[in-house]
Amino acid sequence: MKNSIGVYGLGVMGSNLARNMANHGENVAVYNYTPDLTDQFVSRHAHSRIEAYYELEPFVRSLKSPRKIFLMVSAGAAVDSVIESLLPLLDQGDIIMDGGNSDFHDSNRRYRALKERGIHFISVGVSGGEEGALNGPALMPSGDQEAYRQVAPILEKIAAQVDGKPCCTYIGPEGSGHYVKMVHNGIEYADMQLIAEAWQFLHQIVGLSIPETAGVFKSWNESELKSNLIEITAEILSKTDQETGKPMVEVILDKAGQKGTGKWSSQEALNLGVPSTIMTESVFARFLSSLKEDRVQAESLLEGPSPSGEEMDKDYWIKQVKEALFMGKICAYAQGFQQYKTASEQYGWSLQLGDIALIFRGGCIIRADFLNHISDAYQENKDLSNLLLAPYFLEKTNRYQASLRNVVMKGFESGLPLPCLSSALAFYDGYRSARSGANLIQAQRDYFGAHGFERIDQQGTFHARWLEPETVTTSVKVNK
Ligand code: NDP
Repeated sequence: MKNSIGVYGLGVMGSNLARNMANHGENVAVYNYTPDLTDQFVSRHAHSRIEAYYELEPFVRSLKSPRKIFLMVSAGAAVDSVIESLLPLLDQGDIIMDGGNSDFHDSNRRYRALKERGIHFISVGVSGGEEGALNGPALMPSGDQEAYRQVAPILEKIAAQVDGKPCCTYIGPEGSGHYVKMVHNGIEYADMQLIAEAWQFLHQIVGLSIPETAGVFKSWNESELKSNLIEITAEILSKTDQETGKPMVEVILDKAGQKGTGKWSSQEALNLGVPSTIMTESVFARFLSSLKEDRVQAESLLEGPSPSGEEMDKDYWIKQVKEALFMGKICAYAQGFQQYKTASEQYGWSLQLGDIALIFRGGCIIRADFLNHISDAYQENKDLSNLLLAPYFLEKTNRYQASLRNVVMKGFESGLPLPCLSSALAFYDGYRSARSGANLIQAQRDYFGAHGFERIDQQGTFHARWLEPETVTTSVKVNK
């Protein structure tokens, strides 16, 4: 009997996805371009529904037509070279899916190039890490809808399920699935940094011990903050290092790594002109963290306050930090979804924001109860300009903004950097300001570059002769 799907790439993710497919009744062919991982896979994960191949041609020939091949290889040049090697073996109508964290520009290019060859290309954003790949990830597939229909039964079966619905839905044309995954990761970066700042505040300013902070996160996971990241944070903070007997988190070097999707997301926000400030700050915070040697040296040279060690009202501040964190999270998601909306409009993708929130409810790293509220907000008003304006979020932010303000002020006063919490507050205050300071910026631009400005009392574009005495009254109309 022929196999219903082939998985190419037997690294961490590919091997678990193949096992997930087999566990759901699919006959799966697997292949890796070096034999070592195939050997490892065969010795560790023998499965009656999985056939391992050491040669590409029999791997492809073992697949039912139209062939469905799921690539799970390192993003970048590897995907192109794998596609090149597969092409001579494929027929028109066959389907290649790319589940790696590919750059969506590459996915758009691959989609178009393969379409010309009669091959369907589906970009599949995959989230959930190793565990999710095996037991149910969140999947974000895009490409031709007709091709998606052919792979949907498999993808929707292996995805995480929440309330009987798969965390997998057709996202849109071309590489939009990888776009959605990329911004998902940007939101994830922001969420992680916000949590780290809340934790540092509790530990360094409120004076809670690490086990006490674990207890706080555990209790938060039973509140509106309930989410995968809060849950794993509680578990991390409870863990003790066997070698030193210290909390595990204390023996981990404070330099954060990254693989690039947060950076891409932020770059894309800049390209689109959307203020995704919190995710961008979170990327910068990782860069700053990596300057460990500089930071150690600067600590003794640069002056500023440090946490005073004053006795704090712990219960009061724990509540303040919780509300500040929730508020920061709302702003980060509002920005991420604003980015989806703008990308959808600029690229003509018709992204369904409510459906995207629904598929993030399970399987993925940012899964959280509050995604239901995001989904509801877009179901109620699909043209919503920003999540902050939806009734649920309006009520929350109006109630919690004072706590975010308190925490940020206390942090600043104590010399504790809170890049994402403070960025959330700046965004919130900027977004709710009918009048910004940009009139002065427009004046400066016009002064040094004659860039023109609009007036609040007349239509058109104007230029002022700034150096002439009658500046105020002689603005002249500029041709558009
Ligand atoms: P691994 O490093 O574990 O596996 C990478 C795979 O790519 C291996 O099978 C490797 O084969 C193969 N590969 C590398 N270069 C080539 C090449 N030139 N030609 C063919 N195959 C090649 O990575 P992961 O499984 O963790 O990740 C795979 C993809 O999934 C990546 O794009 C990653 O960003 C993405 N992803 C990862 C997640 C995670 O949590 N780990 C979550 C979601 C997506 P070999 O070892 O033989 O070189």
